[in-house]
Amino acid sequence: RELPGDPESGPRLRQVEGALWSAVAPTPVAAPRLLAHSREMAARLGLSEEAVASAGFARVFAGNVLLPGMQPFAANYGGHQFGHWAGQLGDGRAITLGESVNAAGERWELQLKGAGATPYSRSADGRAVLRSSIREFLCSEAMHHLGVPTTRALSLIGTGEAVVRDMFYDGHPRPEPGAIVCRVAPSFIRFGNFELPYSRGDIELLRRLVDFCIGRDFPHLRGKGEALYADWFGEVCERTAVTVAQWMRVGFVHGVMNTDNMSILGLTIDYGPYGWIDDYDPDWTPNTTDAGGRRYRFGWQPRIAHWNLSRLAQALSPLFPDAAALQGGLDRYAAAYAAADHDNIARKLGLAECREDDVGLMRELHGLLQSAEVDMTLFFRALADVDPLAPSLAHFAGAFYDDGKRAAARPAFDAWLSRYCVRLGDDPLDTAARRARMQAANPKYVLRNYLAQQAIDRAETGDHAGIAELLEVMRHPYDEQPGREAFAARRPEWARDRPGCSMLSCSS
Ligand code: AMP
Ligand code: MG
Ligand code: MG
Repeated sequence: RELPGDPESGPRLRQVEGALWSAVAPTPVAAPRLLAHSREMAARLGLSEEAVASAGFARVFAGNVLLPGMQPFAANYGGHQFGHWAGQLGDGRAITLGESVNAAGERWELQLKGAGATPYSRSADGRAVLRSSIREFLCSEAMHHLGVPTTRALSLIGTGEAVVRDMFYDGHPRPEPGAIVCRVAPSFIRFGNFELPYSRGDIELLRRLVDFCIGRDFPHLRGKGEALYADWFGEVCERTAVTVAQWMRVGFVHGVMNTDNMSILGLTIDYGPYGWIDDYDPDWTPNTTDAGGRRYRFGWQPRIAHWNLSRLAQALSPLFPDAAALQGGLDRYAAAYAAADHDNIARKLGLAECREDDVGLMRELHGLLQSAEVDMTLFFRALADVDPLAPSLAHFAGAFYDDGKRAAARPAFDAWLSRYCVRLGDDPLDTAARRARMQAANPKYVLRNYLAQQAIDRAETGDHAGIAELLEVMRHPYDEQPGREAFAARRPEWARDRPGCSMLSCSS
C-alpha cells in the first residue's frame, strides 16, 4: 500500500516489504492518439467501436484520465532471471487500472504498459517505445487467433512523446516515438509474485496471495487446506504444459522465460524479444541478451518451463508440509506435456492418433528440417497437400532457404516422405479429413519477425495502417486468404540478419 512520492520526483523507488502491490497513478502523456485496437477485445469488454474511436478512449488508455472506480496499482514481484534469483522486480512499467466485468460476467483486468514510472521502475523510465508496443499488441492478438493461451491487447496508443533507448544496432541513444499498450487478462499474477514473499520469509503474505489467487482465478477448485493447494499447483503445471506445447506447435519462441514472465494462469505473457521460427532451428533464440547461453532457445522451452515450475514449487513449499504433493504437480506437468506433444504430432502429421513410432517419425523430420534449413511453417502447411501415392519433394521447393542444402538433403527427404506415406496408408482418416486436421494445426500465417518489422518501419514514418493490415491477416491464421499470400512468404534474404527481424534485446 505504498503511495506515490511527490509529483516533482515521481514515485519513490524502494524495496516494498509486506505488500503485494503499490498504489501508483499513470503519468499523463502529451498527445494520446489511438493507433490500433482489437475489435474482438473491445467487443468482449462491451466497448462499442464508436467508444473506441472517441478522444476520451485515447485519454483513458494513455493513462491521462482515470474513470470513476479505477484504483491503479503496480504489482510487486521478484523472479529468477536467466537462472539466477534477481530479488524484487515488480511492475516497472505496467500499471493496472482496475477490473472490468462484462455483460457475460467475465472479469478482465486492464493494464497499461508504458504508462510511466512506478516504485518498481528501478533505474528505468517506465515507458515503452512504439516498436516494442506494436510487437506486443500484434503478437498478443495473433496468438489468441492461433488458439494459444495468452494475455490480450485492447489498444495501442501513441503518446506524442519521445522515449530514449539505446538502439541495439548502432549503440547510440536516439529518441523514438513512445506508445502504450492496454493489455487485458483475467489475471497478471506471475510465478514471481509468489517467489518474492517466500524469499523474504513472509509466509503469511505468501499464504494470503495463494488464497486470493485461488479464490479469484481458480474458483472451480473446491478442496480445502493442503489438498486444495495441491490441486491448484497441479493445475498451474498442466496449464503451463499446454501453453508451451502450443508454442512448439506454431513455432513461437518466447525469448525471456524468466519466472517473472510466467503467468499463474498459464497464459503467454510479456512479449519482449520473442520471435517466430522461420527455418527450423531448435537452438535459435531471438534474444540478444541471451546469445551466450541461449537458455531461452526454441527447443528448450519445455524444460525451462519445468525449471520455472520447480522455482514456483520451492516458493510454495512452506505451505506444503508434505513435499510429495509438489512433486505430484511437477509430475502432472511432465504427463500433460507428453500428452500435448503427442497431440501435436498427430495433428501436425494428420494422423488420427500418435503411436509410439510416430514420435520417431516426427523427430527424424525435425532433424531433416534443421540440417537442410527448411521453413517450419511452409513445410507443414505443404505436407497436407502431399499425394500419398506419389510424394515429391518438388512440392516443398518454396520451403527451402538454401538450394544446395535442398539438393543434398533430397534422398533423405524422399526416404522420409515414403515412410510417412506408408504410415498414412495405415491411418483411418480419409484424405479430406486428414487435410482439414492438418490445416487446423499448421497455420499458414504467423507473425514472422520480418512482417512485424515492416509494420514497425512504416509506423515510424507515421503510416500506422500496416498494423491493422497485419492484424487482419493474423485473424485467420489457418485459412487460405487469396490475395494475401505475400504475408505467408518465407523470410526474405534482407531480413536474415536485420535487427528487429532476427535479433532483439530485452531493453526495448
Ligand atoms: P522484462 O524483461 O520485460 O520482463 O522486465 C524485467 C523487469 O524490468 C520488470 O520488473 C519490468 O517492469 C522492468 N522494466 C523493463 N523495462 C522497463 C522500463 N522501461 N521502465 C521501468 N521498468 C522496466
Ligand atoms: Mg516482464
Ligand atoms: Mg517485458
